[in-house]
Amino acid sequence: MTIFQKILDRQIPARSVAEDEHCLAFHDVNPQAPVHVLVIPKVAVRSLAEATDAGMLGQVMLMAARVARELGIEDSGYRVVLNTNGNAGQTVFHLHAHVLGGRVMTWPPG
Ligand code: AMP
Repeated sequence: MTIFQKILDRQIPARSVAEDEHCLAFHDVNPQAPVHVLVIPKVAVRSLAEATDAGMLGQVMLMAARVARELGIEDSGYRVVLNTNGNAGQTVFHLHAHVLGGRVMTWPPG
């Protein structure tokens, strides 16, 4: 079981930001920006590479936009990232979107 499944099951705590029937959003424990929130679907899918449900992906994206709006980074700008497998640095194999904002982002990412 992944650590994100344990958060969904309330076995370990998380600093929740938003929740609906599809997704949970919570603060990243090791933030890389002033705002760094993770949005996870309630269904267990290992990564974007294994996702087949467009509706679920849409719900994750809509929740990411909602979080950005509610945390005040919509106008200043933000980045939504889905690290997928090894070279991208994915470490938790429950699909998740990083919502990063509150500072200027560089491009391309390192
Ligand atoms: P990734 O490297 O894309 O798989 O991202 C995993 C993210 O999960 C990292 O940014 C971690 O800091 C974060 N993380 C790991 N454990 C926890 C936790 N218990 N609560 C919140 N964030 C976590």
